[in-house]
Amino acid sequence: MSKKKMSLRELDLNNTGSWPREYKIGACILIGLLIFFLLWYVITREKGDELTNLESQESTLRSEFETKQGKAANLEPLKQQLAQMEQQLQQMLRQLPSKTEMPDLIVDISQTAIATGIQNDLFKPGEEVPREFYAEQPIALTFDDIPVHGDLPPGVTRERVMRDIVAALAAARAPAQGFVTGAFGQGDPDAAAATAVWRRSGLPAGNHGRNHLNLDTLDQAGFAEQLTGNEAAVAATNAGGRAPARWFRYPFLAEGGTPARRDAARAVLAAHGYRIAAVTLNFGDWTYAAPYARCMARHDMAGVATLERGWLAAVRADAVTARARMRALTGRDVPLVLLMHVGAFDARMLPRTLALYRELGFRFVPLGAAQADPFYASANDPRLPGPTPSLERLAAAKGLAPAAPPPAFDPQTVCA
Ligand SMILES: [Zn+2]
Repeated sequence: MSKKKMSLRELDLNNTGSWPREYKIGACILIGLLIFFLLWYVITREKGDELTNLESQESTLRSEFETKQGKAANLEPLKQQLAQMEQQLQQMLRQLPSKTEMPDLIVDISQTAIATGIQNDLFKPGEEVPREFYAEQPIALTFDDIPVHGDLPPGVTRERVMRDIVAALAAARAPAQGFVTGAFGQGDPDAAAATAVWRRSGLPAGNHGRNHLNLDTLDQAGFAEQLTGNEAAVAATNAGGRAPARWFRYPFLAEGGTPARRDAARAVLAAHGYRIAAVTLNFGDWTYAAPYARCMARHDMAGVATLERGWLAAVRADAVTARARMRALTGRDVPLVLLMHVGAFDARMLPRTLALYRELGFRFVPLGAAQADPFYASANDPRLPGPTPSLERLAAAKGLAPAAPPPAFDPQTVCA
């Protein structure tokens, strides 16, 4: 009993063996618990740190997952956008002048400067400067003398010529304005078929005078008759039997021999609601029709190849010169209006011609879009004083010598 009543103070730590049994058991349990808690503390603290780490990792991974999931959802549209942008870039790069074109360009610019009376102290190309955007100059295509123009090679029909022209325009997605001379090919079923091809294409057709008479030889009444007498033929060449807009192109680009006659003709055009189609690009396409027919008749393909080279060189020289002159005269890029005809050689060369204009940095626009530029104000409104604006007339008005560089190539000498 005395052992049981022993107080904690009386316990001898140096002689635990003398402790009562209950105290020994109690001490053992206490030490056991202490060891257990120490172990538990050490182990769980480590695991706790690990848990905190893993929790923060989880939230990082989750936000990463959400970002990536968003990107994955947009991957297809983004890929398509990239492909589209690459395609556009390639297209733009194709429109830049190549290294081999640069010397030609410089020669053309120098010749134009000399022709327009501008003095060049030194023309030295600078270092290449990378830029973000490249502008394309608008150009409107016009085709005169529908449905019959110039000589045909053996075996070629007017209908075939028109089909080829319409197909080349469609392939290049190029709008074009036609001009009808109603008396040409009258009573000829082939000419009627050619007219039908233009009408079915949906391309617009304007008025080019009924008999293609030179206005310098006509009085006001005679001109009015040529204009209104052609309107039925013009209507028949337009889809739906009605021209979307009233455009007139002077035959031979003759506007009347005297200012009085010119103004009389303009009054007739104004009275009938016509706009005048100007010409600011003109490489003489009609001069190739006869030699081409001659070469084909005698199977002279070397002659045809000579004509092809001459044509493409003329297209290039004319475009480069006109663009440079327009910049020199107006200080900006005015949209240009190209004169062509529905001839057999025009049809043969049209795909390569359109590709060349694209390569030179032009894009094709409707005639109305090109002539929306203020440069063409007096062409759009015949009530304003004439004549129709052109590069030659603007140069003359500014007191500059007219640019008439001698043609480097005369197609009339081929297969002569
Ligand atoms: Zn004509």
